[in-house]
Amino acid sequence: MSKALKGFLIGFMLIFVLAACGGNEEPEEQTGEVEEPKAETEEVVEEEATEEAGVVNLYTSRHYDTDRELYDLFTEQTGIVVNVVEGKGDELMERLDREGEATEADVFITADAGNLARLKEKELTQAVESETLTTNIPEKLRDIDNEWFGLTKRARVIVYAKDRVDPSELSTYEALTEEEWADRVLIRSSENIYNQSLLASFIELNGEEAAKEWAAGIVDNMAREPQGGDTDQITAVVAEEGDVAISNTYYVGRLINSENPEEAAVGEAVGVFFPNQDTNGTHINISGAAVTKHAKNAANAIKFIEYLSSADAQFKFAEGNNEYPVNPEVEPTELLKSWGDFKEQDIDLTILGENNARALQIFNEVGWK
Ligand code: FE
Repeated sequence: MSKALKGFLIGFMLIFVLAACGGNEEPEEQTGEVEEPKAETEEVVEEEATEEAGVVNLYTSRHYDTDRELYDLFTEQTGIVVNVVEGKGDELMERLDREGEATEADVFITADAGNLARLKEKELTQAVESETLTTNIPEKLRDIDNEWFGLTKRARVIVYAKDRVDPSELSTYEALTEEEWADRVLIRSSENIYNQSLLASFIELNGEEAAKEWAAGIVDNMAREPQGGDTDQITAVVAEEGDVAISNTYYVGRLINSENPEEAAVGEAVGVFFPNQDTNGTHINISGAAVTKHAKNAANAIKFIEYLSSADAQFKFAEGNNEYPVNPEVEPTELLKSWGDFKEQDIDLTILGENNARALQIFNEVGWK
């Protein structure tokens, strides 16, 4: 078979397999947080290089059509073929660990600095020297040793029922532990990395004792036992099970932009409030990428992450999941801009990994399920 024909056939197969998993996708990131039965990881392709430029093999817990379009654009520009394995973050991490030196994965993409820190701790990542990355990505949004890099940013905010809560009643995460919020606060389980990272940030900013007081105070004020993901908390606010929820911003964006009118109505019924603007700022987190420790195509892996951090790619990459770009040269979408600018917590995200174990202990101590 001629080289060109072979390339064509492989391209065709790739499109076919991608199309097969592009339909009714679960809208949450696959970080192990989803309530549904576990889907098997989707093997897309592990093809040989069709060009001299070679390949880059990606494990990712993101699964958005826009991400895939970007991979195609990267291939167009560089000739490097992107082979994608999609799955839940924790399952892919276990797999990478299990595969050891034999792994095919060159790049790992997942949500939350806490997860990326875990990868590094397990010695599954390698340090990358790239001026492009250190220029495109602010220091606080990447690992201290450049073993992982933030690619999109999200804030963990207070979402409130517009018909029942006036934003002037809201101020800080801490204020939600006060008596007036008794039985009104909706938030997911502490098993979830987003809450672990939130509490890890409070440990850093306010100290362990204050962080524990906060967690205990939220448990006291919960409208119900934690259940479901962030979207379920927002839906419960609109269903009047509680009046406020703590959620990542992109879940609100997803609801507002949903083609399902019921979901869109839920999104329109809530407001986004950035807490702690007069104190230490709103908690932010990232989804990001790392070059794996045993990458066989490390140079291509770096080129790939550099591409995703570029001004060209950043808007699309963030837009696909209603997130904020990390590259300061790129503006967020109109919807995100409409929520306004906000002051962020001023901590290095590396800290979230370092404080994770203590955060888990505190959650246990205060009985946050
Ligand atoms: Fe998520």
